[in-house]
Amino acid sequence: MHHPDLCIAGAGIIGLSLALELHHRGYRVTVFDQGDPLAESSSAAAGMLAAYDPDNPSQLLPLATLSLSLYPNYLDRIHSLSGIRVPFQTHTTLQSVPTRTAATSSELTAKDLSHLFPALVPRKHRFILLDEHSLDPRQLASALLAAIHATTIDLQPHTPILSTRPVGNAVEITTPIGTMQTAQFVNCAGAWAAASSHQPGIPVTPKKGQMFSVVLPPSLPMHFVVRTPDIYVVPRTTGPSAGRAIVGATVEDIGFDKIVHPSDIDHLRSLAITLLPILASTQQLEAWCGLRPATADGLPILGTLPGRPNHFIATGHYRNGILLAPATAKVMAQLILGETSATELTSFSPNRFLSELPSP
Ligand SMILES: Cc1cc2nc3c(=O)[nH]c(=O)nc-3n(C[C@H](O)[C@H](O)[C@H](O)COP(=O)(O)OP(=O)(O)OC[C@H]3O[C@@H](n4cnc5c(N)ncnc54)[C@H](O)[C@@H]3O)c2cc1C
Repeated sequence: MHHPDLCIAGAGIIGLSLALELHHRGYRVTVFDQGDPLAESSSAAAGMLAAYDPDNPSQLLPLATLSLSLYPNYLDRIHSLSGIRVPFQTHTTLQSVPTRTAATSSELTAKDLSHLFPALVPRKHRFILLDEHSLDPRQLASALLAAIHATTIDLQPHTPILSTRPVGNAVEITTPIGTMQTAQFVNCAGAWAAASSHQPGIPVTPKKGQMFSVVLPPSLPMHFVVRTPDIYVVPRTTGPSAGRAIVGATVEDIGFDKIVHPSDIDHLRSLAITLLPILASTQQLEAWCGLRPATADGLPILGTLPGRPNHFIATGHYRNGILLAPATAKVMAQLILGETSATELTSFSPNRFLSELPSP
């Protein structure tokens, strides 16, 4: 094995976006994945770039808006390497606002809503319009993987990182195919970041999300996302999935279970039908699930691990990993290169969970 400058555990959107950024900065990068690249949470997502979702923790906003500003260049870089252009699928979201908040001038009236989207039955919800994009994470996954293959990034699928340890100024990494040294190591193992024995004690847990897709009826041309705290409907407007919509998602705390339960899908479907009755007559296509990497405060963990020289971590992106990938890649590359971060990272520091980490 050659000696890379940096090794990454996890070829999800976070690990591969960071690999691309560091490669662009001249690093020799190796990425290990225990399975296939981009086969976990990152391809299970709906693809909303929901920076302004009122359910997000407020501390997320600067990182989220940084990521939105980086998205066009991020997609351009992927395009120039892969030849694949990943389009935005939607540009607007009809977002429900909590009923406890006071009415605002941006809130849509019942008349506005019936003009905008006659199929919608708002019931107890009040809505605003958000300038928000969505994309198809499966399209992004194909393009990102092709971009990685167009570089000298060394991608090692089906090779779990079993353990890491600091050795002098380097990090020793053990996989089933042997032991190697690297100058720096980043844990981007998503929901498995804590479960993997290479960094026990990191407080990341899997939150299962099930969802399904439908074929939209021709009488329901849908060009924007509809989102309430219970349910969202995300249409695909261009590419191979145009004319379909993704309906999601459950949020379940049941470990690494990845079984799709028809009863849960039926429940999601009934919630969606309450909002959009026309969905009752739609044909269901697929149902799937993914494991979101979650933390206790709903914020990612980005930084260095105390007492573990040259060990970094970038995980815990929970419901917003697709949104946050470009900013995560940028700020982690800055941290690794010893540069000033483009945004304040204190809220995301692993130190906030310090008392829960075992000594190395
Ligand atoms: C149903 C659902 C809907 C979602 N919708 C959205 C959305 O609309 N917008 C949005 O922004 N986000 C959304 N998300 C969240 C988003 O998908 C995640 O935050 C994001 O994919 C996390 O990326 P990741 O690279 O950290 O994790 P993953 O994509 O899960 O990748 C982690 C990788 O690490 C690998 N790995 C684990 N352990 C090891 C090891 N020891 N050695 C080597 N490799 C290892 C795994 O095999 C995996 O490939 C959604 C998620 C779900 C489940």
